[in-house]
Amino acid sequence: MIVAQERGRGGFAGLDACVHCGFCLQACPTFLATGDEADSPRGRIELMRALERGELAATDTALAFHLDRCLGCRACEPVCPSGVRYGQGLEAARERLARAGGVPWLARATLWALTTPGVSGLAYALARMFRATGLPRLLAGWGRIRFAMGMLAATAPKGGNGRHRTATDRARPLPSSAVLLFRGCVMQGLFRHVHDATIRTLQVNGYDVREVAGQVCCGALHAHAGLLDDARALGRVNVAAFGDGDEPIVVNSAGCGAFMKDYGHVLDDDDQGVRFAARVRDVTELLAANGGPVPGGPLDLQVAYDPPCHLLHAQRVSQPPQRLFAAIPLLRLITVAGAADCCGSAGLFTLVEPGMSRAVLQPKLESLGAVAPQVVATGNPGCVMQLGAGLAARGTRAQVRHPVELLDASYQAAGRYE
Ligand code: SF4
Ligand code: SF4
Repeated sequence: MIVAQERGRGGFAGLDACVHCGFCLQACPTFLATGDEADSPRGRIELMRALERGELAATDTALAFHLDRCLGCRACEPVCPSGVRYGQGLEAARERLARAGGVPWLARATLWALTTPGVSGLAYALARMFRATGLPRLLAGWGRIRFAMGMLAATAPKGGNGRHRTATDRARPLPSSAVLLFRGCVMQGLFRHVHDATIRTLQVNGYDVREVAGQVCCGALHAHAGLLDDARALGRVNVAAFGDGDEPIVVNSAGCGAFMKDYGHVLDDDDQGVRFAARVRDVTELLAANGGPVPGGPLDLQVAYDPPCHLLHAQRVSQPPQRLFAAIPLLRLITVAGAADCCGSAGLFTLVEPGMSRAVLQPKLESLGAVAPQVVATGNPGCVMQLGAGLAARGTRAQVRHPVELLDASYQAAGRYE
């Protein structure tokens, strides 16, 4: 029954197209880190196919070792000439492994604290209080605990959070169309200033941003941990909460957006899931639509853009963030070697696989250190935290911010807010 569902949903069937050409190997950060074929997409596909055929047990330790070390960054997908849907295969395999061997306690405890209604509100409130003491910033460094301190410090609003600013009527010259805001769990708990910036910048660009009651975590973190049933349950709650209208659903977290654009597949090709998925837009896609975004005021900043894997590879959104930066006079975008490579965050990966996560992060930190930007811009909470912690540990003075925060500051400079 499980096998039939996995193939019916496109799970393992997504791997069938692999012709073993190896074009994906050089795009894979874990293969580049270890040089081991079993840490490459091609090697993992072979392992997953062996799992599907029953030649490897779901409790096989070598299988779990190499699949656990996969970031799920999906950098292997756009370079694959055969159109292998690696991410879907990985989800199906992880579900089998989780059913057979359970999910590590650290992943379960983190998911429980960050995504359980009632519990997560308290966890985030305590985290914000601790963040406000300034201690996480002072304690940031290498090692599990100090790196986690750096991650929390990286979530702090920078440059004045402007919570009470609103777009002036003068700043809304375009006819407005309604969009529904997805707030998520980590974004709502630790990045409300990014939601505020999202709302204001969308208003300036003619969107009427509406709130949706009853929405929950998107389920991406659960799916990455192999808890697909939990992810599906959350997906169904969101599908019901956002209703059957045709307003776009705006998301400012690349990981959430990638997963929600896949709700059709996740919810077994359910019609409502498919329609929901078709409405999901990254905030930069909406801002860049119709010739946008509206230009802002000058920001004299050197910015390095670090495209999140789940925006660039999973959603294939590359140009909209560039259009956003182009709308900010004086901002200078710096080219950084390996900018499109994964930072090693990958949801809970940074917590449960710290060794591989830091190995993948190191080359990026060296590239960023070489160009010394004032700001690193990236549109995913995990990437903001991972890059912020890494830069702090390395002693590189650069802020990490969401691109909409920069556009928001630019609109503030242009006097578009009151
Ligand atoms: S590029 Fe695609 S077809 Fe080639 S080995 Fe990688 S996954 Fe298989
Ligand atoms: S998802 Fe990323 S880490 Fe995993 S095999 Fe593909 S490229 Fe490698």
